[in-house]
Amino acid sequence: MHMHSYWSDGNAFPEQAADMYRQAGYHFLAFTEHNAFAADTNRWRAVAVSGGIPQTRFDDYVAAFSNEVVSKVEGGVTNVRLKTYAEVKARFDAAGRFLVMPGQEITQTVSAPEAHPAGVQLHMNAMNIPAALPYGVPGGYTPTQMIGYNAALAAASGVAPQRFTVALNHPFWVFCDIVPQNLIDRPEIRFFEVCNGGSSYALPAGAENYTCEKFWDSVNAFRRIQGEPLLFALGTDDAHHYVAPEMNYADGFGSAWVEVRSPELTPEAITAALHAGDFYATCGVLLEDVAFTAASRTLRVKVQAAEGVTYRICFIATKRNFNQTVSYVSSPANGSQPARTIPVYSDEVGQAVKTVDGTEASYQMASDDLYVRARVESSLPGKFTRNFYPAVQTAWTQPYAVAEPVGLTPASESSSALPSSLNTQTRLDKQGVPGLALGLVGYSSAWSDTASFSTKRLPGLLFLCL
Ligand SMILES: [Zn+2]
Ligand SMILES: [Zn+2]
Repeated sequence: MHMHSYWSDGNAFPEQAADMYRQAGYHFLAFTEHNAFAADTNRWRAVAVSGGIPQTRFDDYVAAFSNEVVSKVEGGVTNVRLKTYAEVKARFDAAGRFLVMPGQEITQTVSAPEAHPAGVQLHMNAMNIPAALPYGVPGGYTPTQMIGYNAALAAASGVAPQRFTVALNHPFWVFCDIVPQNLIDRPEIRFFEVCNGGSSYALPAGAENYTCEKFWDSVNAFRRIQGEPLLFALGTDDAHHYVAPEMNYADGFGSAWVEVRSPELTPEAITAALHAGDFYATCGVLLEDVAFTAASRTLRVKVQAAEGVTYRICFIATKRNFNQTVSYVSSPANGSQPARTIPVYSDEVGQAVKTVDGTEASYQMASDDLYVRARVESSLPGKFTRNFYPAVQTAWTQPYAVAEPVGLTPASESSSALPSSLNTQTRLDKQGVPGLALGLVGYSSAWSDTASFSTKRLPGLLFLCL
């Protein structure tokens, strides 16, 4: 659900990237270039010039896709036409086996003088939206407003609510840019990256517990007591590098992904399962099953065990009466990283409530658990060493919850982990995002890909990955 090619700052031709995912056993992927939809049929990149494509990558490309390569030589320089998203989709889609979906990484710098003099970085992935979303930042918008604005633009695309996803990417990328309160205040955002292959930031003393998981639990603890939907977590590689050794350091192919339980390999089935929370994030650990039974308030996890590997299953919850205090730690300037302030939530947010060494475990929610989720760690080291990338291969289930006694949960909430979708416009009205109409310019009313989506059924339930 997050990768880059030569359309933006990735280091692969789109076909090279798609081919790697397909050969690695992925069933689907989404193209998510920075502020680009990969639709321009006349986009050329030069080979072997400063800032251009390395000759070796071009040679690899020609070797693999010889008669499909479109190139020309001008002034002694080879120029290559980048295949569009639609061309790559047509080339690689195979009913029931592989699916390419459209996407975009909305990449913005939002003014936030109180947090960061240069503004904060806001990156959000939209998937299965039919055309490029505008990425301009209206003047005066705060990060929270901008997150809502982007979600509203996606919602205004005309695609049905369960047919697309909008995710908050890598809140810890380079700088701690986006804080939990941004997503507490934007409950229409249902997805964020708990594991991104490119995140990095050295936390200052006193803020060591401010991890991606802490971020996640902080959002969900407050959302639950406010009766808002839970935030689901994605794993992504944010792949920029597809060749060793670079791909083994960071931003490398295949370092994290999601496994989705979907009855068929279609965009609508995949996105419906994502919205239903019927998936998990992983950077290596595979699960045989994840089951939450609302009637018994029990979350059960079974690992797809690899030989010679040991596993630890940890259930994590936040209690209803958790300490809501937030303190702040100053993070001094460090090189190009400016000084900033880190919010620190109490230890009662995201507590380990049960830990089991083994490949199978269950946890029955206590009456005061707001939600429960599980983290499964293996004895295998993570793919690379990096801040915010797990030291050991790990999987994360989604959080699950049951309806609370009257007065604690809105009547509309279901008794499962899967709250109904929100009306984004209602949220905007409530939270005040001005100027929504500005963003509607540039939309296409038609999406020709829709008609070509396969509806072939796959046998039984499958976990699919991207
Ligand atoms: Zn990004
Ligand atoms: Zn990215």
